[in-house]
Amino acid sequence: MSTLPIKLKIHYYGDAVLRRRSRPVEGVGPQEMQIFSQMEEVMRCAGGVGLAAPQVGLNKQLVIVDVGEGPVALANPRILKKWGSAVVEEGCLSLPGIYVKVRRARKIKVMGLNEKNEKIVMVAMDLLARALQHEIDHLRGRLIFDYANFFQKMRLKKRLKDLKARLHALCLPDCCRQAATK
Ligand SMILES: [Zn+2]
Repeated sequence: MSTLPIKLKIHYYGDAVLRRRSRPVEGVGPQEMQIFSQMEEVMRCAGGVGLAAPQVGLNKQLVIVDVGEGPVALANPRILKKWGSAVVEEGCLSLPGIYVKVRRARKIKVMGLNEKNEKIVMVAMDLLARALQHEIDHLRGRLIFDYANFFQKMRLKKRLKDLKARLHALCLPDCCRQAATK
């Protein structure tokens, strides 16, 4: 299906790759397209609405989101403008079982390169805007945990400690396991 020499899988909290700043890509070529397509597969298998390249171990500025309106793949995304704000509880595929209320802009204007290497500017609202902001955060090494207040962090730290201990035992959904062994 894919000719990428590596098989991408989700990296979890505690992995240094999630905290590094990702580098912009020079453009969207065959390799980036393959990464996008594998990221989409991983996102779907894991039941997520978005995924950023650091979450599959690559510090490249690539994100993909699908909030039910079809996949949006963006390279080197940059937020140009923000409007309004709302607080919504978010989860993250790299922090399974952790939910944090995050204040984000309700509407954003984003620019980047699409999967055809075309420069695009798009305006996103509500869930799409939120998912994009969440994934763009990943490119700066920022996680939902960072939005928690002091007391929430104390509580989450305990859960994260348990999570780290469990990480090796975490299994991928069946469809991912099949894809990974193809
Ligand atoms: Zn995330």
